Amino acid sequence: METARKPHFVLVPWIGSISHIVPMTDIGCLLASHGASVAIITTPANASLVQSRVDRVTLDGAVLAVTTIPFPAAEAGLPEGCERLDLITSPAMVPGFFEANKKFGEAVEQYCLRDAPRRPSCIVSGMCHTWTLPMTRNLGVPCYIFHGFGAFALLCIEHLYRQGRHEAIASADELVDISVLQPFECKILGRQLPPHFLPSTSMGSGVMQEVREFDMAVDGVVVNSFDELEHGSAALLAAAAGRKVLAVGPVSLCCAPSLDPQSDDARRCMSWLDGKKAKSVVYVSFGSAGCMPPAQLMQLGMALVSCRWPVMWVIRGADSLPDDVKVWLRENTAGDGDPDSKCLVVRGWAPQVAILAHPAVGGFMTHCGWGSTLESVAAGVPMVTWPLFAEQFVNEKLIVDVLGIGVSVGVTKPTANVLTAGKHGSGEAKAEVGAEQVNSALEKLMDGGVAGEDMWRKALACKAKANASLKEGGSSYNNLEELIQSVSENSTEQS
Ligand code: UDP
Repeated sequence: METARKPHFVLVPWIGSISHIVPMTDIGCLLASHGASVAIITTPANASLVQSRVDRVTLDGAVLAVTTIPFPAAEAGLPEGCERLDLITSPAMVPGFFEANKKFGEAVEQYCLRDAPRRPSCIVSGMCHTWTLPMTRNLGVPCYIFHGFGAFALLCIEHLYRQGRHEAIASADELVDISVLQPFECKILGRQLPPHFLPSTSMGSGVMQEVREFDMAVDGVVVNSFDELEHGSAALLAAAAGRKVLAVGPVSLCCAPSLDPQSDDARRCMSWLDGKKAKSVVYVSFGSAGCMPPAQLMQLGMALVSCRWPVMWVIRGADSLPDDVKVWLRENTAGDGDPDSKCLVVRGWAPQVAILAHPAVGGFMTHCGWGSTLESVAAGVPMVTWPLFAEQFVNEKLIVDVLGIGVSVGVTKPTANVLTAGKHGSGEAKAEVGAEQVNSALEKLMDGGVAGEDMWRKALACKAKANASLKEGGSSYNNLEELIQSVSENSTEQS
């Protein structure tokens, strides 16, 4: 008998990084809040992260389950528990990680075909889990991909694949024209291109090629964004790529920001912010793994301790910094949350969504990772942009040139690639951006002048649209309904 049950979505977040696991878990929460049944499949080491997010959602009868399937790290010669790319300790381990990922895929398929309490009606797959495609074809269900990028960046990438403009440049110092949105001109240097178009990537070109083939074969793309933000990029991408593109975010708004009650860092951050004036604080963070060479970090640090505003500065991989930088940080910044301190350094995991929502925050210096960008948009906080790698230089163009909600610090060279992330590297690399340049970008955003106020006004307008998009009748709300509806129509599940 045909069942009228809502479809069952299986989500398999790419376990490469926390910044993929978090938004895909939130997409699961959103689908469940629209009444769909959802299972999120992850590995044991990532399960508590997923479960803690799922636990924040109150559901009205819908099912939202977390399933763990072992990740065969040891079989691939990786240390036990090495279940995310940011946990590998050497680039030589990358092939082993992808080998283990393939075996993980086989186990997920066995589970879905044989052991799961309910067969999937649709699989939403993280970008590198290319093995979900044959699995969905075996199951006869649609397959959606989640890249973790915004629609504008995906459109630029599609444009580059189709037009091949990057192939015409003679050197990485030449500009590549990726103007995909009228009337905005968008050009970036060859060396700032997304990893798909760089001669060698940390993940290996074979992986990027597989991802491209996977992307071209899926039934649709789910994006953490909202239609009003990226000037029609999702629709343009759908037309260019010939598949559904559904913006369902900002997913960080799926429930109120919460703090990990166990985390002293989180408590320290929030009580430090409580003591600061409205819109006075610069929040500085470079994502889940972003690091910079010690000389660059010092220039940034000198700007942050000398600027006119209180600063909350998240530093990843602080343990890998040279001793003299560690000493400088100890002498010039505070790590204990002293309410009077000017520059609070956070070495652990900062509760970023809650920080950005705090009224004391007046600007966000960001590496333009898409998750951070959208969290800033959702909170209505303008940005100082400092892209490091990946598609972040493209995101910077969107933030500064298209949306007018940020000022560029002016970095031209990528700082690190994904797999040297988490470590600050050798002391030899020179600083590209000097302390004065950093200060001048901060001044533009924070000094209360016309340019800064304009960015604030535009950022608040984006925030209002972001909130409206997830409410009943909003664009993201409707896109979630459309996804569920299209899967229901396809589903001939037997009860
Ligand atoms: N994040 C956080 N606390 C931190 C560092 C990062 O909560 O101390 C979160 C941030 O809120 C975002 C994600 O990690 O959701 C970073 O994702 P993004 O796409 O910005 O950058 P990536 O880590 O992929 O470079």
